[in-house]
Amino acid sequence: MSQAIIYLDNAATTPVLPEVADLMYQAMKHNHGNPSSIHQLGRHARVEVEKARRSMAVMLNVQPGEIFFTSGGTEGNNAILAGCARELGRKHFITSRLEHPSVLNMLHALEKHDSCSVSYVNFDSKGILDLHHLEQLLQQTHEPVVTLMHANNEIGNLLPIKEVGNLCKKYDSLFHSDTVQTVGKLALDLQKLPIDFAVMSAHKFHGPKGVGAMYVRAGAGMQPYLVGGAQERNMRAGTENVPGIMGMAKALEVVSGSLDTTFAHISGLRSYLIETLPKEIPGLQFLGDAAGSSLYTILNLALPCKIEPRQLMGLLDLAGICLSTGSACSSGSNKPSAVLLALGMEPLTPNLRISFNRYNTLEEVKKLVKVLKKITTPG
Ligand code: PLP
Repeated sequence: MSQAIIYLDNAATTPVLPEVADLMYQAMKHNHGNPSSIHQLGRHARVEVEKARRSMAVMLNVQPGEIFFTSGGTEGNNAILAGCARELGRKHFITSRLEHPSVLNMLHALEKHDSCSVSYVNFDSKGILDLHHLEQLLQQTHEPVVTLMHANNEIGNLLPIKEVGNLCKKYDSLFHSDTVQTVGKLALDLQKLPIDFAVMSAHKFHGPKGVGAMYVRAGAGMQPYLVGGAQERNMRAGTENVPGIMGMAKALEVVSGSLDTTFAHISGLRSYLIETLPKEIPGLQFLGDAAGSSLYTILNLALPCKIEPRQLMGLLDLAGICLSTGSACSSGSNKPSAVLLALGMEPLTPNLRISFNRYNTLEEVKKLVKVLKKITTPG
């Protein structure tokens, strides 16, 4: 008999909501027109795309014209940063070494090919950014772009986004935040936040993979980055992913309708682990600012034993538990997580990122504790 899977890798991706899957299936069956076609099937598809845009704009409290559909977080981060350098002439970037590779690798490319320079904000052993240092960097640079993620996808640390945005304003900096891990998890009012750009990815909030959106504040001056047809108001050419866009808007609508209950439920599971694990496994350490300002869906820890991370993953997999070690996005590679190394973790530390969704249960979490205790107990 096959065992039930315990899925605790939701920072990597989340299961699609049944109502989202149903809507997409219906859209693929009955609404297959190209939104650029002027016949009725094309017009129907266009109506759905624009309905989705309006719905997302309402949820994020922005104008529909400030939402551009993309293929996900990577595309949004790449497009915004490259656009700032190449179209807006911003040549200095301020970031941290804890950012997602879709930000850091884009910045490396801009340094190499577009005469840009990059400064990195200091952080402490928990990964908490030094905002005094950020202010010093802002003082030293002319019209920079600050790019700092809202919640870290590996350790969960939350950025004081409003404070950072206000600092950026004070020093004439544009501010981009990778909000991939927080859209659909926290109530975000992008109009009230002092922010110029943000990105989101549907598969992180129970929508489909390969579709996302970016928020570009009106007047921020972003220029087209995929050229061809006139889609996305000329910003991003290419036939729209109609079922994906519809599914994403539906997912955001559903999760936004139950943020408080989801928060209470998942916070309870996370607190249980924070209390129980150190008692059951003495020497276990939580990484990042776990007990402080952290996203409620992510918990990262290091186990006090000598087991090799891949073997640890194998044992958990055998027990039916899916979670990740290091960065989920690079888990296919053999390299340890750059974020955890930057935080001073030894390369072969048995490390786990536990990340929850609204369906996880206390029984699942209790089973995880039991399995981890068994793995870490000698003999
Ligand atoms: N930014 C963060 C913080 C992420 O966690 C991820 C995915 O793991 C991405 C960007 C990339 O998003 P996508 O998978 O939609 O390209």
